[in-house]
Amino acid sequence: MLRKIGILTSGGDSPGMNAAIRATTRAALASGIEVVGIKDGYRGLVKGQFIPFTAKSVSETIAKGGTILGSARLPEFKDEEVQLKAIENMKANDIDALVVIGGDGTYRGADALCKKGINCIGLPGTIDNDVEGTDYTIGFDTALSTIVECVDKLRDTSNSHHRCSIVEVMGNRCGDLAIYSGISCGAEILITPETGYDEEAVLEKLKHLEAQGKNHAIVIVSENVCDVKALSDKVSRVTGFSGTATILGHIQRGGSPTASDRVLASRMGAKAIELLVAGVVGHCVGIKNNEIISYPLDECVNMTRSSRKAFYRLFAKLV
Ligand code: ATP
Repeated sequence: MLRKIGILTSGGDSPGMNAAIRATTRAALASGIEVVGIKDGYRGLVKGQFIPFTAKSVSETIAKGGTILGSARLPEFKDEEVQLKAIENMKANDIDALVVIGGDGTYRGADALCKKGINCIGLPGTIDNDVEGTDYTIGFDTALSTIVECVDKLRDTSNSHHRCSIVEVMGNRCGDLAIYSGISCGAEILITPETGYDEEAVLEKLKHLEAQGKNHAIVIVSENVCDVKALSDKVSRVTGFSGTATILGHIQRGGSPTASDRVLASRMGAKAIELLVAGVVGHCVGIKNNEIISYPLDECVNMTRSSRKAFYRLFAKLV
């Protein structure tokens, strides 16, 4: 019998996490299930930082960025002893199941708890869109909108000054923020974990664009693929463009979630409770072809990355 659930947000925060907390809370209460909010992800679970939630606890949160619960990274959660401490706290507080909101690391933590008999449902909360099995994650659309707004502004000034703007965006292992923003902003070059980095090819392409009479160029780069400052210096030295590097950084994580992220988070939160009430164990929630779906957490964390080839082909046609 499911009487009480806990909700936590873990890993990097993403806009829309609050909408997911709100929807999960309200859907649970509507089903007669008590809710506790857990502070700072798995750290709060291990420390026993539980806050009883009412419908009011989540009012005025749907438009807020960040997470009202706080988030944290707790590398020690990989240790069995630490996981057992979390389970002990849950049992002492009569918490029957968890809804975890985060990225694939958060899912690994939830999967570990499931394997120890604690039911967990995962919601994909990360701006990177790097959770497999779902078309979109909560926060991706907002982060993408932020990037597009910033790059549009850079485009105006780079046009006036014959610049090549090299913009680093987030997406450590997944180039979706770069690909989608590159398409949305009319970028000339994309450098992502999937494309890899070939400096010579980038410089040749810029020279070619210049020879064609291009007045400016936008290059979008996923973080950790190349040094954008070094690349911009090289562009200034060997092409006719003035290279400028912009690292967008944490601005991409902030801001009020878009309507699309709010709706996605709300649909996913409601689905989490539907699954728990139906007795489904160890699933994560996703969206495929605009349908809210669920699939096993352990499958999700072991899936290989889906191909982005179609997007690159589209991008290549638009340059
Ligand atoms: P994002 O990538 O958007 O920042 P994430 O959820 O992938 O989100 P991580 O820092 O990878 O972020 O993971 C969040 C937390 O999940 C970790 O700090 C840790 O507490 C827990 N975690 C990650 N991997 C594991 C694992 N293999 N086993 C148990 N817990 C894990």
